[in-house]
Amino acid sequence: MSLVDLPLLPLGKGRDLDAERGVECPGDLPAASDPDLVARARAAKEALGERVFVLGHHYQRDEVIQFADVTGDSFKLARDAAARPAAEFIVFCGVHFMAESADILTSPSQQVVLPDLAAGCSMADMARLRQVEDAWDAMADAGIQDSVVPVTYMNSSADIKAFCGRNGGVVCTSSNADVALDWAFAQKADLGEGAKVLFLPDQHLGRNTAVLQMGIGLDECVVWDPLQPGGGLTADELRKARMILWKGHCSVHGRFSEDVVDELRVKHPGINVLVHPECKHEVVLKADLVGSTEFIIKTIEAAEPGTVWAIGTELNLVKRLADAHPDKTIVFLDRNVCYCSTMNRIDLPHLVWALESLVAGTVVNRISVDPDTEADALVALQRMLDLPGKSHRD
Ligand code: SF4
Repeated sequence: MSLVDLPLLPLGKGRDLDAERGVECPGDLPAASDPDLVARARAAKEALGERVFVLGHHYQRDEVIQFADVTGDSFKLARDAAARPAAEFIVFCGVHFMAESADILTSPSQQVVLPDLAAGCSMADMARLRQVEDAWDAMADAGIQDSVVPVTYMNSSADIKAFCGRNGGVVCTSSNADVALDWAFAQKADLGEGAKVLFLPDQHLGRNTAVLQMGIGLDECVVWDPLQPGGGLTADELRKARMILWKGHCSVHGRFSEDVVDELRVKHPGINVLVHPECKHEVVLKADLVGSTEFIIKTIEAAEPGTVWAIGTELNLVKRLADAHPDKTIVFLDRNVCYCSTMNRIDLPHLVWALESLVAGTVVNRISVDPDTEADALVALQRMLDLPGKSHRD
């Protein structure tokens, strides 16, 4: 068996019946679309010229990413779009919350298009505004609301970002969550250990950052379950907590498990395990390195030839890294071939339809955040942009 055969071996085959909505485990990545569409996408993009700017998230399919003017994580892409004011149309190959952020950060004259409106995010869907407002009211009833600063991960809907803007909170990314938590606790510095953060919507990023980077105890983290009365917590538990973690997670990163890490360490002695902080705390504890998608890419680019890596992030990115670095062995950290099914809804047919519609003068699937939500969300985003320095992790 050659090294070239190795990378996708641990992927396994077959359908995973336990996969959550938002994940598909069919045994392979989706088949490529009709190759004739490549020429049509190219022609439509050329016809639009500088009027269109195509953004491609790292987890997108190869057939789509080839048409991206820029690739990156959600925040980098939104900023890149804002830096291209000449582009009338921003075609966002990503998911809904990312297109919303691009709309918030770009000028009113720029129109953001999401090629398939069904490209949502199961994590973002786990925190709805009504649920978060109910939790906030319950914190007032428990007498702690004045001690809490809400912090939301970029992977949340615009109205959750707006909630944070209205209530003294901030947005963070997986690269700067530690800096955002520092900032949030500093807002209530007069309360000392009484200061609290409500972290939305990803409990794993919140817990990993608080415990591993801020030195907060696991026993000082509680989980607010929006499906339970009172979040499933007593007033006393709320009062004692420093981190109130929303019960949300990424259906893709939440799949990675400690036993696969153990298995791969036996199979490939000396393997380096590199995971995203959206993974479960137990998995992160077993990993060698943890960081954002940008951190994962930089780490692999800088790795020595001949080194062996197991990567716990979305499959399209892992596969692309394996293809781009044949001098290193790169394996996926799941036994099954699982990918983000909502991200993968953006395929070539949808991209061609969006681009050709623009050429014909019709803006399809425009994502437009209402002005009040946009104004409040921008407050929380601006607080993030104003955060000092770089993350400890970068
Ligand atoms: S990978 Fe996870 S967080 Fe990212 S869009 Fe898919 S479900 Fe959402």
